[in-house]
Amino acid sequence: MYSKEDYLRNFCRTESQVLLDRLAKNELTDDARAAIRELLTERGVSLPYLETVDMTDEKVHAHAMALRNGACPRCRRHRGIVELRSSHWVWSALVFTRFKTEKHLCCHKCGNRENFKAAGFCLLLGWWGFPFGLLGTPYMVLANFFQIVGRDRLEPSDALRDLVRRHLGGMARSRPVQLLDPVELEKSVS
Ligand SMILES: [Zn+2]
Repeated sequence: MYSKEDYLRNFCRTESQVLLDRLAKNELTDDARAAIRELLTERGVSLPYLETVDMTDEKVHAHAMALRNGACPRCRRHRGIVELRSSHWVWSALVFTRFKTEKHLCCHKCGNRENFKAAGFCLLLGWWGFPFGLLGTPYMVLANFFQIVGRDRLEPSDALRDLVRRHLGGMARSRPVQLLDPVELEKSVS
């Protein structure tokens, strides 16, 4: 088993691009990862960029699970799983039709509220354009209905992972692991 100092010695002459490539893969030990980060920081690679590269699937998964099991950023309560949810909207008039999908990071109950609102809106204002309003309204109402009756999967959705990945990558941090703020995340998606 090699220590961090061994890795520092081994990697000190390795090109930065090669080190970045290795950092982007998942199979490094913690000591190897720490050594590479230290060398690259000394060579002037910026921390936000390093964080973007050093983004293992495990790290993204851990943050996504912490968000899912935390308090809902909307109601601030623990009422089940927090996920990235969608509500679907359509309104139309004559030949003009507008479709929109909104994202919400919230618990199932807060998500349901958005879906009921969206379905009511579609039923009132979706029908009045031809042909897309007339054809699209039942589709959007059903899309909201499926969100309401759908069950949360055991694993974080791909959309939530992408959100976590983007935010971890964008954060300039002095420490590699930091909890994401669910309220900030929710603001960024809605
Ligand atoms: Zn909630």
